Amino acid sequence: MSQNHYSTIIIGAGLSGLACALELQNQEHSDFLVLEQSDKPGGRIRTEEVDGYLLDEGFQVFLDSYPTAGQLLDLPALNLKKFEPGALVHLNGHLYRAMDVFRRPQHIVSGLLSPIGNIFDKLQIASLRKALKKTTIETITQRKEHTTKEHLRQSGFSERIIDTFFKSFYGGIFLERELQTSSRMFEFTFKMFTEGSATLPARGMGQIPQQLAEQLPPAHIRYHTAVEFIEGQSVYLSTGETFTADQIVFATPINITRSFLPSLRLPERPWRSVTNLYFSADYSPLGEPIIALNGDNQGLINNVAVLSDLSPHYAPEGKSLISISLLGLPNQEGLTDEIRKELRSWFGAQVDKWQHLATKAIPKALPEHLPDAAPLPEPEPPYFLCGDYLESTSIEGAIISGQKSAKKVLAHAKN
Ligand SMILES: Cc1cc2nc3c(=O)[nH]c(=O)nc-3n(C[C@H](O)[C@H](O)[C@H](O)COP(=O)(O)OP(=O)(O)OC[C@H]3O[C@@H](n4cnc5c(N)ncnc54)[C@H](O)[C@@H]3O)c2cc1C
Repeated sequence: MSQNHYSTIIIGAGLSGLACALELQNQEHSDFLVLEQSDKPGGRIRTEEVDGYLLDEGFQVFLDSYPTAGQLLDLPALNLKKFEPGALVHLNGHLYRAMDVFRRPQHIVSGLLSPIGNIFDKLQIASLRKALKKTTIETITQRKEHTTKEHLRQSGFSERIIDTFFKSFYGGIFLERELQTSSRMFEFTFKMFTEGSATLPARGMGQIPQQLAEQLPPAHIRYHTAVEFIEGQSVYLSTGETFTADQIVFATPINITRSFLPSLRLPERPWRSVTNLYFSADYSPLGEPIIALNGDNQGLINNVAVLSDLSPHYAPEGKSLISISLLGLPNQEGLTDEIRKELRSWFGAQVDKWQHLATKAIPKALPEHLPDAAPLPEPEPPYFLCGDYLESTSIEGAIISGQKSAKKVLAHAKN
């Protein structure tokens, strides 16, 4: 007969649920079970292999400066491949280099001459780097918040650099180009970019949750197991089974947790959406591991990267894998043709030879993270919240949240 009572049940095997489970295991609290509705771990991070191409679920990067994620993961085993620091910016039909001149000093002259911002912007970036290097993440999370756009303006950045660079660079991170996201998120990511590199695991982003899940005994995670509802300490599954637990961790996105715990009155958080198109080509249009941004403020494309320029595992031999991100969920009808047309102004006629591999529309990518959101209510034990929405909406935030909820579970279990 299978066990149906556990000390702790964790609902969701995204990064936050996995990090929670690992922390419990490390603290020798081993009577736990993770329930996951999908066929594999990772939640919003997954990689699918299709005809020799590795297709991540949306363009995501791992910042190798994430301190907590860096401690939990075996980074050498992920074989992280780095993007060049900085970006190419597509503006008025040209691709300009906007490089991090501290790490790529050879680009200082082209950087100063490029039309992406002015000399004061470049000095401002230097002073922001210096200030944020000295500031801890803890301090950033307690700072007064406003929108990222207000923050950039108050910091003295010109409208030009906001329009040509920040809107697409941070648009790609926040999944919104109006830069309404909290300035704390801006400062956190700016600090992480200053201290490290944007990377991809050589064999796809899905390796990150995979590596965490492999550290747990297989019997402690059940896939294809959706939780339908909770009543007291009972967890009712779609399979018709019922489990009970002394502690129940909701490592599900905020909207799902909200429906499990209606009396808690978690606020509704709108989702930021993104659409990702993958193309295959015989040659890389960029020829280097760098992110290219739309600095024109026109068109649907936000950013372009050739993932096989970072890691050859992303495409079969002799092929390049091109990833195009569009913010929101544009109408799918005729979308490939429209994007190909737009890409012609970036890369010329070669794009007509590219083969469209897949379009991934991701309606629920990131929960909105606006400034001055009301503090979230916390449930009474035996319930515990867990998820990126409690910290920063990022890989680092999800892992921190998982570890914090495990500590709360352990404190409760001891009493
Ligand atoms: C397109 C995209 C781009 C991103 N870019 C970046 C980036 O570049 N860098 C970065 O750091 N972060 C990025 N992020 C954010 C990062 O991926 C997330 O913050 C993180 O993965 C969230 O983890 P989580 O555990 O909080 O939630 P989730 O990953 O959503 O995990 C929740 C889990 O709960 C499961 N679940 C839901 N309902 C049930 C149920 N009823 N029963 C059982 N299981 C259930 C789900 O299947 C899922 O596995 C991006 C996200 C997306 C989608």
